Amino acid sequence: MIKEIEDLQELKNLNHPLVHFEILEEINSKGSTYPIFGITLGSQDRTLPTLGLIGGVHGLERVGSQIIITFIQSIINQLSWDHTLRENFKNYRIVCIPILNPGGMAEFTRCNPENVDLMRNSPIEATGKVLPLVSGHRISPLLPWYRGQEGVLEKESQVLINFVKKEIFSAQVSVVLDIHSGFGIKDQIWYPFAKSQEHFPYLNEIKKIKNLLDKTYPHHIYKVEAQSLNYMTHGDLWDYLFEIHTQEKKSEDSVFLPLTLELGSWNWIKKNPLQFFSKLGLYHPMKEHRYSRIMRRHLHLLDFLMRVTKNHQSWLAPSKDNLL
Ligand SMILES: [Zn+2]
Repeated sequence: MIKEIEDLQELKNLNHPLVHFEILEEINSKGSTYPIFGITLGSQDRTLPTLGLIGGVHGLERVGSQIIITFIQSIINQLSWDHTLRENFKNYRIVCIPILNPGGMAEFTRCNPENVDLMRNSPIEATGKVLPLVSGHRISPLLPWYRGQEGVLEKESQVLINFVKKEIFSAQVSVVLDIHSGFGIKDQIWYPFAKSQEHFPYLNEIKKIKNLLDKTYPHHIYKVEAQSLNYMTHGDLWDYLFEIHTQEKKSEDSVFLPLTLELGSWNWIKKNPLQFFSKLGLYHPMKEHRYSRIMRRHLHLLDFLMRVTKNHQSWLAPSKDNLL
């Protein structure tokens, strides 16, 4: 069994009344079956401000799943003694899928057990400068970044789409963080699009969040920019979900901000070149002290996004109470 799934099972067994676990799907890989857990914390009213946390889309990038599991664990522990936190959770919610691709995680592969790269699997076609193979292709499942057959959504992709539609789209304000690792030197927060350099309709809201982050944590380490400035891809699931949200949203001023946290792991390699030869090397901090630092550092970001989502009235709408 996967260690991270065991950790989730342990959290589930705590049966905390404010935390709900659901098995969204089961994935078979090489004779074993792995659950995809969906978790909701706080109020069950889906119209309330919602923070979404997604991890383990790529099976090798397990550090993202571990950050989310550590965060949930910390909240569950705080709920046992922090009365204010319990009260606050009546007015907002956190929803997560800590491991979307457990089959890939079990097999130490980026793709799912069908050899499909889930972040290339949606029907979105990129326009502009795309890279051969890396941006997604349908040449062969034997090559990395394979998009899958045209018109076929993988089980895991469908789970994410259904979960986001059900748990996030009814919220008036929602922020999502999908955590990946392995690209670049800096830790980056990307906003859409991956498909093109088209203007993201909520760029103003992104700027407001960035402004809050800069003011709250002047020494933060994140570089915030459009994903397309780094590379463009076909089939991004967040571009697809954003398109669905735009078509289906119930009110004009409903806000859906899907962000990606890309942990720059090249520094981990630079500091520990032997790591290069490990299966997880490019995607996971191997040294204990580096691992602890990464956990600490990003828990602040998750906590910040939770407060930003919860307090959206104070920064989102232009009003005289607006603090910005
Ligand atoms: Zn990734």
